[in-house]
Amino acid sequence: MSILTILEFPDKRLRTVASEVEQVDAGIKKLVDDMIETMYSAKGVGLAATQVNVHKRVIVMDVSENKDNPICLINPQIVARDGVEESEEGCLSVPGFFEKVSRAEHIKVKALDRNGDSFELEARDLLAVCIQHEMDHLEGKLFVDYLSPFKRNRIKAKLDKIHRSQGA
Ligand SMILES: [Zn+2]
Repeated sequence: MSILTILEFPDKRLRTVASEVEQVDAGIKKLVDDMIETMYSAKGVGLAATQVNVHKRVIVMDVSENKDNPICLINPQIVARDGVEESEEGCLSVPGFFEKVSRAEHIKVKALDRNGDSFELEARDLLAVCIQHEMDHLEGKLFVDYLSPFKRNRIKAKLDKIHRSQGA
C-alpha cells in the first residue's frame, strides 16, 4: 500500500466531477487500500478519491473509535434522506479549519463494496455527515462552499499563505 498526496483547497483539481467506476478491478481495489492507508495516516475520518486526484466515484471512511472499521463506498447513491442536523466539519483538503454545516440527519445509501457487490447502508450522526461530505467531493464540492463568501475567502487566504511559505 502507499500513501497518496492529498490536494488542498483552493486547488482547482478538487473541483473535478468524478466518473462512475465501471468495474471494480484490481486497480480500484488498490486505490481503495491506498486511500484507507492515506486516511489513517492523515488522521481523517473520511477520504474521497477526488482528494487524491483520482476522479472516480470512490470514498472511504472510518468513524469508529479504534479505527478498525474501514468502510468503502463505490458509486454511492443516496436513496433516502430525512431530518436536518448541524455539526462541525473539517476536511483533510482544508487542514486546520472547522465550521458548522447543515446536512440530512439520517440517510440511506446504496453503493458497491470493495468486492464490487452491491449493498445498502443506513447512517445517522457522524457517519451520515461523513458520507454526505465525501459524496460532495465527488461532485467537486467542498464544505467551505456552504460558508459565507467572507469566511470562505478568509480560509482561502490563510491556506494560500501557508502553501506559499511551503513553496507549493
Ligand atoms: Zn473533505
